[in-house]
Amino acid sequence: MSVSGKPPYDPGNIFARILRGEIPCKKVSEDEHALAFHDIAPQAPVHVLVIPKGPYVSAADFHAEAPAEAIAGFWRAVGRVARELGLEEHGYRLLSNMGEDAGQEVGHFHVHLFGGRRLGRMVP
Ligand code: 5GP
Repeated sequence: MSVSGKPPYDPGNIFARILRGEIPCKKVSEDEHALAFHDIAPQAPVHVLVIPKGPYVSAADFHAEAPAEAIAGFWRAVGRVARELGLEEHGYRLLSNMGEDAGQEVGHFHVHLFGGRRLGRMVP
């Protein structure tokens, strides 16, 4: 924990390593704000992770600390990826786990994008 009580960003986390090209991923798309790639253990026919390029641990620090342009660019990329994957017609689900109690495993902010079938009711 840092002095502020917030976990520090670990540049050795798996998504940082993917961003640096140190380990491979099945890339969906990339621009200056975001990288989208297939989850290694998909929970739906389409299960893509979208991550910002900056070093943010979670949704909380991304939205509190990233420049407005980076936040807008990230969310535009999420929408574009869903559109390009053909998910807009039937719908899709976005999810981001924030912190330990939510089961966040990787300490680099990411949004899960699920689709490709009728999704079950979301329960906590
Ligand atoms: P979290 O629980 O942090 O919200 O989700 C982390 C996600 O990252 C999980 O769905 C997990 O399957 C995925 N994941 C973990 N390691 C890798 C990896 O090396 N490559 C890819 N593509 N996905 C990963």
